[in-house]
Amino acid sequence: MLVIGGGLAGLSSAVALADAGFHVRLFEKRPHLGGRATSYTLPDGSEVDNCQHVTLGCCTNLADFYRRAGANAKVRFYDRLYFADRAGKRSTIEASALPSPLHMAPSFLRFGALKFSDKHAIAGALLAIARSGGSPPEIAGVSMLDWLRRMKQTDGAIERFWRVVLVSALDEELARTDAHYGIDVFWKAFLANRAGYRVGIPSVPLANLYAGCREAIAGRGGEVNLRAGIREIRLCEGHFKSVVTDDASEITADLCIAAVPHELLLELAPWQLSEPGGPLGQVRQIRTSPITGVHFWFDRTVMAEPFLTLLDHTTQWIFNKTMLYGGESKRGDDASQSVYGQRTQYLQLVISASYDLVSRSRQEIIDLCRRELLDVLPATRDAKLEKATVIKEVHATFSPEPGVDARRPAQDIGVKNFFLAGDWTQTGWPATMEGAVRSGYLAAEAALAACGRPQKLLQPDLPFEGLSKRWAHRAAARRP
Ligand SMILES: Cc1cc2nc3c(=O)[nH]c(=O)nc-3n(C[C@H](O)[C@H](O)[C@H](O)COP(=O)(O)OP(=O)(O)OC[C@H]3O[C@@H](n4cnc5c(N)ncnc54)[C@H](O)[C@@H]3O)c2cc1C
Repeated sequence: MLVIGGGLAGLSSAVALADAGFHVRLFEKRPHLGGRATSYTLPDGSEVDNCQHVTLGCCTNLADFYRRAGANAKVRFYDRLYFADRAGKRSTIEASALPSPLHMAPSFLRFGALKFSDKHAIAGALLAIARSGGSPPEIAGVSMLDWLRRMKQTDGAIERFWRVVLVSALDEELARTDAHYGIDVFWKAFLANRAGYRVGIPSVPLANLYAGCREAIAGRGGEVNLRAGIREIRLCEGHFKSVVTDDASEITADLCIAAVPHELLLELAPWQLSEPGGPLGQVRQIRTSPITGVHFWFDRTVMAEPFLTLLDHTTQWIFNKTMLYGGESKRGDDASQSVYGQRTQYLQLVISASYDLVSRSRQEIIDLCRRELLDVLPATRDAKLEKATVIKEVHATFSPEPGVDARRPAQDIGVKNFFLAGDWTQTGWPATMEGAVRSGYLAAEAALAACGRPQKLLQPDLPFEGLSKRWAHRAAARRP
């Protein structure tokens, strides 16, 4: 079996097929595995993530993949979420002992950054989501912003609550987000199950998570080929025939999973597939949105929390990489000294849907972020910025705009022995690591069925709990 692409979609399908006893040959164009969710070494020797990646408790397939890859111990889950407003004032959100969907209510009521009128409006909308089991009526084709207006949300609620959570979760502005995706985030992460919101953050650079994948594939006699791009996929009479590598070798196989980004698949696959009316006919219309990551190395400790979500700023998240990598133990600076050789702190800032930054220079972005840090991390005023890196991913993820689902093809497009994977294929999920792994498992399930060895790989969602469970069952019974 051939797998093209060593991102999470390709890796998850390859490892699942290897675990099922198949000999898998994986071809990845770049020198490392992980695709967009990877890390690499800068010329000065520091290893940086392409961008900070976080998972949530509700990402059950990604958790299964990390387990298969032997990486689950390298992802640490946090129960408390930290927020800072324009004045730097902190608020936290965490689950209480109350049952779902009320488990977050006590910390939500205490949340200092929202007025009573904002909280009242938010509670009404969250209740509507919970009572409908995550599927409120008449949201087809509606943007999240339109749905929030329909639910009479205040400007404060939209800016300081809905936008804060959703723009970073979905990498898109509320006006360009399908309401179904926005509502799903709140249902799965905050309402359906008490553990859904827990934030999982790798304690190692991202590329270190995938070493076990190589072992799983090689252990079954398969191979992982790096710097091995595929330049053409050949079909013959409606079934898969072969691929042509960048060095012009033709490789045949009984079966192929193509797990490359959508715009690249259109370059590799026969043009007939992307003709109007063809199985990839609408893929060209899937749009993308940008994410900007900013890496700062300070000469001293400037941040005490492991991560911080910012309200009222362009910067959305700050990750304390020194602490997340275990560089700061209870002994504080002593430990960071041992990791970096001096008392430094490495922070990573993330700005999703960063349309306004795409045309800005590196220095402009650094200056903007440094100004914002003064509001929330005053210790940065006297700290020396020893080094800074800006990584702009202009086409970071597909945009979850209204109607995008109709353009996303299934993993099985009706070409015999040829399957698709990738976060952009039909998974029901937005462009996330969980979506990529779901696509990989679905493609592998289709491949196993084609070999006459059907097997279920897709993991169930977290179970509904408490009142959410009762409401979800009632809502399902009412649906036609
Ligand atoms: C900046 C940024 C931040 C993000 N943050 C998060 C986050 O916090 N949480 C989250 O869940 N998700 C996040 N995502 C989304 C997540 O990274 C993606 O959804 C996921 O990694 C996509 O995996 P994939 O395998 O579908 O695609 P990719 O990761 O793009 O993998 C495709 C692979 O195919 C290879 N390839 C391409 N062409 C060829 C060819 N011709 N031959 C061989 N190989 C080829 C590529 O090199 C690549 O390795 C983020 C994405 C970005 C860009």
